[in-house]
Amino acid sequence: VRITGNYRHELGELASTLNYMAQEVVHTNQVKDDFISSISHELRTPLTSIKGWSETLNSGGFDPDETKIGMQIISKETDRLIGLVEEILDFSKLQSNEMKLVMGSVDLRELLQEIMLNVWAKAELKKIKLSLDVEERPYLVHGDGNRLKQVFLNIVDNAVKFSHESSSIYITIRKEDQQMAVSIQDTGIGISEEHLHKVRDRFFQVDHQNGGTGLGLAISQQFVERHGGELLMNSVLGQGTTVTVKLPALEEPSGTTDISEAEP
Ligand code: ADP
Repeated sequence: VRITGNYRHELGELASTLNYMAQEVVHTNQVKDDFISSISHELRTPLTSIKGWSETLNSGGFDPDETKIGMQIISKETDRLIGLVEEILDFSKLQSNEMKLVMGSVDLRELLQEIMLNVWAKAELKKIKLSLDVEERPYLVHGDGNRLKQVFLNIVDNAVKFSHESSSIYITIRKEDQQMAVSIQDTGIGISEEHLHKVRDRFFQVDHQNGGTGLGLAISQQFVERHGGELLMNSVLGQGTTVTVKLPALEEPSGTTDISEAEP
């Protein structure tokens, strides 16, 4: 939803999205009470900001610059809310086993090249150099391309978010026995031993000032596990983090065979 001068309409749309989400959550009986209370808390923060700014702007008397700032905040908070709603829906579908994967042949090299383009602008802002060290050949796995993209986008996005200016992020893909192992290594702020085993828990964030939802890694880990793979994390506080995703390798290129397992 893009907030324009007519933000009332967008807020109306947002309200119906939230309503839909609330119904989804209510109908998912595996979702635990503490999960719902965490969701409410996470939703309230951007909603409070949107409500506050829309009321303030509505009261009038602002110059164009101030109005622009207010509208930008509303837009940013709405994006945050939409991202949060999408993550919550994914998470609740994963919890209740309703998430269907659309399996096919996925070339991890191509996927990671695409992801590097996606995060390029964000990395450029911090003068971070992203490098992908692979041979020029396909690295095939059997998986859901969209979901794997979500997994790697989350990990690479975190690497950029938690890296220092002018640092480097190295991405490698190796074939290990029957698995493809993708490693994303940053030299950023790192994670302490105490927090490392918690960062894949839902809603856990070391520092709540960084934006985000604390759901990304929890979702990523579940997607990877649903693919029969594993997500590993190594980190040293103050030195950096390496996230490794291992996925079952696909031996034969399947360009000619349809191995879709999607359910309608
Ligand atoms: P989000 O990034 O939306 O907060 P995630 O589940 O993706 O949620 O990550 C949870 C937390 O793990 C982050 O808030 C951060 O504290 C920590 N984290 C994740 N990746 C890294 C990284 N590469 N370097 C340092 N900390 C990280």
